[in-house]
Amino acid sequence: MIYADNAATTKMSDAAIETMTRVIRENYGNPSSLYAFGQEAKEVLEQAREDIAKIIGADAREIIFTSGGSEADNQALISAAKIGAMKGKKHIISSAFEHHAVLHTLKKLEKEGFEVTLLDVHENGIIKPEEVAAAIREDTILVTIMYANNEIGTIEDIKGIGAVCREKGVIFHTDAVQAIGHLPINVQEQNIDMLSASAHKFHGPKGVGFLYVKKGIKVSNLIEGGAQEKGKRAGTENVPGIAAMATALAESVNNIEKNTARLTAVRDRIIKGLKEIPHSAINGDETSRLPSNINFCFEGIEGESLLLLLDDKGIAASSGSACTSGSLDPSHVLLAIGRVHDVAHGSLRLSIGEDITDDEADYIVKSVKEVVEYLRGFSPVWRDLVAGKTKFIL
Ligand SMILES: *Cc1c(COP(=O)(O)O)cnc(C)c1O
Repeated sequence: MIYADNAATTKMSDAAIETMTRVIRENYGNPSSLYAFGQEAKEVLEQAREDIAKIIGADAREIIFTSGGSEADNQALISAAKIGAMKGKKHIISSAFEHHAVLHTLKKLEKEGFEVTLLDVHENGIIKPEEVAAAIREDTILVTIMYANNEIGTIEDIKGIGAVCREKGVIFHTDAVQAIGHLPINVQEQNIDMLSASAHKFHGPKGVGFLYVKKGIKVSNLIEGGAQEKGKRAGTENVPGIAAMATALAESVNNIEKNTARLTAVRDRIIKGLKEIPHSAINGDETSRLPSNINFCFEGIEGESLLLLLDDKGIAASSGSACTSGSLDPSHVLLAIGRVHDVAHGSLRLSIGEDITDDEADYIVKSVKEVVEYLRGFSPVWRDLVAGKTKFIL
C-alpha cells in the first residue's frame, strides 16, 4: 500500500507517538492544579509552547493552543473582525482558494456586516503582493492569505504580502497548515501577525494545533469557560497532544532540507511521467509548489472513479471531484484557477510522504496511466471528444 494523501493527514512519527504515550502515562495531572502532579503537566505544556514559539521566531506568550487548524483559522479571523468593528473598519481581503475553515468564517462575517474581497489567484494559483496592495482600502482591517494551498500545493509570497500589510497597517493572517514543518517559517522575518497550524499535517496527532498572534493584537476567545490559555481558550489543555505536536514540529523542521531534496526529486519524477498522458494538465505553479504535491486534471474522466481504481491498486490518493467531498460541485480551488467544471471533475491529487521510494513513484505513474486509459475506454465524454463532437480543452 502506498499512502499518497499526506495533505489530508500524515502518519504520526515514532518520536511523536513516544512523547504522547509518555505524557499520557506520566503527566496526567491537570495543568491548572497547584499540587506537583498538576505543575509537572504545566511544565510539559509550557516547554512545548516555548519550543514551538522558538521554531517559528515567536515568543511563547504569542502561542495559543487550539483543537487544530480550523479552530485557529476561526479564532484568527473573528479576533481581527472584532478589532475592526471597534475601529469602524469592516473590510477583509482574502483569496478565492482558501481552505473552507477560512472561507466559511468569512461568509459568517459577511452576514454580520463585513465586506470581503476575494482576490483572483490566476491560472498558476499565485497572488502578487502588488495585487494585495491594490485591494487594501482605508477600512481594511485584515488580509488572510494561505501560505500553501492544500489542493494544488502552490506557495504564496508570504513575506511580500506581509510587508505590504505592515506598510499599510493592516493585520496579516496566514493559514500555514500545509506549510509549517515543510517550509521554513519565521513570523518576524516574514511580517506575519497571525498564523494557523495543525499538528496532524506534520506527523503529529490529530485534534491539536495552535494560533500564533503577534503581541499587541487582541485575541477573542471562541470558547467560554475556565482561564486556560490566558482566558483566550477555555478547556483543560490537551497536554499529551500538545507535547507530541512540539516533538513532531521539531523533528520535521530539523529535516526540512533533507526532506525537501528527496520529495522534490520524486515529485518531479511523477510529474514528468504523468505529463505523458495525453490531454492532461498539471494544476498550479510548477516551481512555487510544495515538494510533496502533485495535482493533475485528465480530460474525459471522473476523479471519483480514478480514486477507487487506484485504491484497488493499493494507492491512497485524493481528488477535488464531486462525491469525495460530499458535494456535487467540483473543487472550488480548481474552479478558482480557471478550470471548467468538466475538466475539474477529472482531477487527482497525490501528496507524497518522505519515505516514498523511486519504485513506488514509478508504480504510481504506471497505475495512473493504466487507470486513465481504462476509464477513457468507456467514457461517453471521451468518445465525444475523440469523435470531434466536443472540443478538447487540455
Ligand atoms: C487541514 C487544513 C486545515 C484544517 O486543519 P484541521 O486541524 O484539520 O482542523 C486548515 N487549512 C488547511 C490549509 C488545511 O490543509
